[in-house]
Formats: sequence, structure tokens, C-alpha cells
Amino acid sequence: MPNLSRRMFASALPLGLLGGNLLGGSLIGGALSPALAAAPVAVTPLAQIRLGRFTVTALTDGYADMPYNYFPGRTADEVEQAATAQFTARPSGVRFLFNQYLIEDGERRILIDAGAAGSIGQTGNLPQALGAVGLQRDQIDAVIVTHMHQDHMGGLIAGGVNNYPKAELYIDRRDVRHWTDPAKRSGAPDYLQTSFKMADEVVRLYPKLQAIDGEREIVRGVSIVDLTGHTPGHIGVRIEDDGKSLIMVSDMIFPVVHPAATDVFFLFEQDQAAAKAMRDSFFPRAAAEGALIAATHMPFPGLGRVVADRGQMRWQVADWALQD
Ligand SMILES: [Zn+2]
Repeated sequence: MPNLSRRMFASALPLGLLGGNLLGGSLIGGALSPALAAAPVAVTPLAQIRLGRFTVTALTDGYADMPYNYFPGRTADEVEQAATAQFTARPSGVRFLFNQYLIEDGERRILIDAGAAGSIGQTGNLPQALGAVGLQRDQIDAVIVTHMHQDHMGGLIAGGVNNYPKAELYIDRRDVRHWTDPAKRSGAPDYLQTSFKMADEVVRLYPKLQAIDGEREIVRGVSIVDLTGHTPGHIGVRIEDDGKSLIMVSDMIFPVVHPAATDVFFLFEQDQAAAKAMRDSFFPRAAAEGALIAATHMPFPGLGRVVADRGQMRWQVADWALQD
């Protein structure tokens, strides 16, 4: 057996592992070579799958740890206990990823959501993530915004400019109405004011905004799914080709608390009855269909299924690398 150095072993690992905890943790163990220890490698998380003629790339804008008391329906202690049991507890809360999805069919590039862009947590990485696949924001043909919360549209207008100048913008009309309504804004709590402010800016800076009414196809194989509840015009995006499909469900599913229960919410949900009703109908339907799902805030790349397991709904991570 040749005497392989630890460094050679590390260099044979997939790139994605190099920035993670494995090198610093006990799985490899022992002292790191000085070169590796001194130069942590910045990694841009990327995951790609093919579905029929589509390539779907998961990109992440970053993350934020949401305080345990941001989940109405459960006490902070209950949420922390659940997070601890799932080994996902962070000192300051439940880790939310901000995953965006790029859909390419060889003709068009469609982005689902634009990230928080630094308005919350450790975010603002989407431009670099696009750069890692060789794209600039002006090469995006369309952006579908699943709803007008700051963590889904902040990247559209970060810096007070239109960051996707060539893109058609699609947002459900019910959300456009809600988030640009001065009466709704003045009656809303402080933590939603950033979203109202951003919504006004999005409408002002994107004259090509198309308000969507109901479920429809945007381009062949890319359709809007009505998932009203989390916000009035909360939508998902289904891509379908060659007998395969994937639904990006945005904020239908939050880590730690969903899909095990539907009577637990996120602070930003103003209409809890509507949010519960949609989850009550969606989770069993998704489980029955075995639908492949991409969820914005689940651990990267957010790909999985809702499964009914001995009477309980749970999230089952899917193998994103080998969907064919
Ligand atoms: Zn969100």
C-alpha cells in the first residue's frame, strides 16, 4: 500500500466537502497539514439535477438562524427541543437556508426567487452563486417570485436598483395588491415593514412585472401552482417534462416543525387559518403522489419528499445527484 499523505486524501474528496466540517471534525481526525489548516477554502454550494429537458440548479443566498420564539403554535422551548432532537439546534435558533432555483431548458433561464440579499442573516451570496455557474444577473430571462416577503425578493432590488434588467418578473396579483396596499402596511407589525417597503420598490423598478392570476403555464413545462396561505398570493412552481416533475414549494415547509404538524406557523404568517388550511391539504397530497419537492428554507439543496410514516408526516431527503 503506498503511503498516501493526508493531503492527497483530502484532495481526492469532492470539492463540496472541502469547505464543510469534515476536515475540521473528528471523522478524518488527526492534525491537518499546515497548508490546509491555514487556508480554509471558500465553497459556493451548488447542486444540479436534470428533469427531462430541464436542468435545475440549486443556489443559495445564505442562511439565517430564526429565534425559537418565531414559531407561533409552539413555545420556544418546544421548538428548541425539537431542533435539538433533530441535531439542528443553533445557539440563536432554527437555521433557515435561502435556496433559490435556476431552471434552464437550453433557451431560457428562469430564476425562482431572488434571496434576502443581506436584509436578514448571513445572506447576499446569490450573485456569487450565479457567477459560479458562469452567469451574470443580466442573463436571467425571468424571475418568478413565490411571494413578497423580504427573503424572497430582496435580491431583486438590493442597492436600490433593478438587479435583473432583462428579466420578466412574475408575481401573483394577490401578493402585489396586498404588499403595495398602504392600509395593509400601516396596520402591519414592524417585522413586516421591510417587505412592504421592498414591494413598493419592486413595482417601481420592474415595469415588466406581470401579475399572475391563478394557475398557468409560464413557458412550456413550467407552471404556477396556487399555494395561497403563507401569504395571500403564495405560489409554487411546477416543472414537468418527459414524465418527470418537481415542485418548488417555497414556504410551505419550514425546517424542524414541518411537515410533522400543520398547527405551527412562522411569525411572518398573518393569516394562520389560511396557512394551516393549505398545509392540511398539501402535505397529504404530496405524500400520496410522492412528489419531488424543492423547499426554500430546508437544508441545502432543499430537495425531498413529504412521506407518511406510521401515521406521521415527515421530510425525506431526496438524492439530488442521481434523479435520472
Ligand atoms: Zn421565506
